[in-house]
Amino acid sequence: MRTLLVTGAARGIGLAIARRFVQDGEKVIMLDLLPEVLQVAESLGAVGVHGDLLDVHTLDHLDEAIGENLHVLVNNAATSQPGSAAEVDLDLFRKVMEVNAIAPVRLVQHFLPKMPEGSSIVNVASVQGLFAEQNNAAYNTSKGALVNLTRSMALDFAPRGIRVNAVAPGAIATEAVLEAIASSPSPASTRKDWEDLHALRRLGTPDEVANVVHFLASGAASFITGVILPVDGGMTASFMMAGRPV
Ligand code: NAD
Repeated sequence: MRTLLVTGAARGIGLAIARRFVQDGEKVIMLDLLPEVLQVAESLGAVGVHGDLLDVHTLDHLDEAIGENLHVLVNNAATSQPGSAAEVDLDLFRKVMEVNAIAPVRLVQHFLPKMPEGSSIVNVASVQGLFAEQNNAAYNTSKGALVNLTRSMALDFAPRGIRVNAVAPGAIATEAVLEAIASSPSPASTRKDWEDLHALRRLGTPDEVANVVHFLASGAASFITGVILPVDGGMTASFMMAGRPV
């Protein structure tokens, strides 16, 4: 049985990832800022830790929950702050960088000694780490950093037998995305616009991302490291809106 840590696991993609590994009988530690992570984890048969990635005490709580060895670290938690570089509040920009790009470094610095040969790290990046979205400078920058951090860690940890990869999801039908669509002025046309960004002309599901994370963390991916794998229904295959009607 492997021990895994999934950050940002109370809902959305993180929850789907945790559930996928619990199905295999793995020991899964689920961390989140949201208190409901405790109940969600209990209902899955996982271990919930309620805490903020930016709080150093969280590391102690995670240590306790993890025990001696950590075999898979999934850096999934993220935050965002809209705005162009000209207008975004610098403190909020820093916070986005802290959660999305620096917290994974802090976790690695703390937990690498617990990760034996054969362990792996999977980072949940974004298509916005590969290309930029208008009016989203902080998030784009943080995910771009996470993408190259993935490659850096892959090179640096390969001698220890630790693989490091990332997924880059397109638009996934999580609570956060569905709420954003529902609160737009015209939800049906917003949803259609988002769907049409993908060659497959639909949103992805959290399980479709979780399955790829599961694969990257498995022995089936034993010769894969340093890869950023789009899980985007073909969005990044195109230089224009992939699902544009022809
Ligand atoms: P979400 O907002 O539903 O989930 C993120 C979770 O992280 C939340 O539960 C939140 O409480 C937690 N979190 C945030 N800051 C934290 C902190 N400081 N400490 C502890 N927990 C914290 O988002 P989601 O849509 O499920 O996305 C999950 C991941 O996938 C994120 O990295 C996101 O950037 C990425 N992603 C999502 C989409 C999408 O369309 N949903 C697309 C591309 C990438």
